[in-house]
Parts: sequence; structure tokens; C-alpha cells
Amino acid sequence: MESPKKVLIVEDEKNIVDILRFNLQRAGYATEEAYDGEDGLAKARSGKPDLILLDVMLPKRNGFDVCRALRAEGDNVPVLILTAREEEADKVLGLEIGADDYITKPFSMRELIARVGANIRRTAMQAPAEPASAAIEAGDLRIAPDSRQVFRAGQPIELTQREYELLSFLAARPNKVYSRADLMEQVWNYDYVGDDARTVDVTVRRLREKVEADPANPVHILTRRGAGYYFAK
Ligand code: CA
Repeated sequence: MESPKKVLIVEDEKNIVDILRFNLQRAGYATEEAYDGEDGLAKARSGKPDLILLDVMLPKRNGFDVCRALRAEGDNVPVLILTAREEEADKVLGLEIGADDYITKPFSMRELIARVGANIRRTAMQAPAEPASAAIEAGDLRIAPDSRQVFRAGQPIELTQREYELLSFLAARPNKVYSRADLMEQVWNYDYVGDDARTVDVTVRRLREKVEADPANPVHILTRRGAGYYFAK
């Protein structure tokens, strides 16, 4: 039997850790816990988890710091940020520091387990060798699916996993408009829920800042007002 996937829970509220551990284990995951940011970072490095559930407000080092440190080390482990409902800005920042997803407290355990599963599956699906596919070129932009690299005017661009997936999804289907709900489902792998439209918007904005020569006047990733986003070719 395949060994269970491991989730690292980084959260300082013991009752939340207990309920997360219980539900994750019941869903078939192995768990490890850290109660502050420093220990969380140490366990992320040593324990090689398949996913990290990361609280924002933590003793010693906050969740954003931990995520940023992991990404700076080239660690692409899926990170799901746990954020308080009122901390709207946290969502945005959470995505800008390289997290893969966020969920607001109080969350339903069913939704959390679904998102954990979706984020782990998404990463696992990328692991096996994909069939060779042709590079996509549009203007000064070149997307090389084999190496998962993107170049602008010959210069490599650093994209997060999600940014790359969004770009390659749209670029593979040029001029076709996708609503935020479509993109949540196709690129984020789970059904559209309410304010998650922000997730799509923030990722598009980040992507434009990286791939567009003039992000304020994009030529690659365009908005069809009231309908969604598309890749122009
Ligand atoms: Ca906390």
C-alpha cells in the first residue's frame, strides 16, 4: 500500500490543531504539528511534508515569513494558508508570498479536507514525466512546457507553480475566454466558492506584472469585461 501523504500543521491554537489532526488522520493523512513559525519551518525542511497548513499569526515567525523562506529555498511544497475571516488583506498577501491557496477561519472541515486533497493531487499529477509538447510563442513571450519555463524577450521569468499553470492553461487555448469560476475549477481544481474570485484576480495581476512589458496595458493576458480572462494570440 502507498504510504499516506503527510500534512504539516503549523498553528498555535491547540484546539484547532487537535481538530485538524483528528479530521486529517480520519481522511487517511499522516500529520505532524508545529506550534510556532520557527518550528514549522524546521519541520517543513526536515519532515518533507506533502502539504503545509499554515496559520498566519504565529509566535516567533509569522506564516507569511515561513512561506516566503521556503519559497526562497526553492521548496515548492503546496502551502494552504489559514486566515481569519476579517483579515481580508491576508488573502492577497498570502498569495503574493507564494502560497498556493488559502482558507478562511472558521472553515468547514469538509471544505478543508477537499482543498488539502486537491492541492496534493495537483502537485502529484505534475510529478510523472509529461509527454513532450511544443513551446507556445506569442510576441515576446515563449512558454516551454517541457521545462516548465517561461521567457520574455529571451530572459527567463520566475513564476510560482500556480502562475505557470494559469498562464499555460490560457495560452494553450488562445482567445478563448474563461470566467473566474471556470479558472477556479480548471486551474485550481475545485469548485468555485463565493469570494474566491479574488484568488483568480490576484494571480492574474501577479502574472501580468511578470509577463507583460507594461502590466497596466497587457497584451498577452486580457480581460473580457464581465466575462473573464483570455490569452491573446
Ligand atoms: Ca494563530
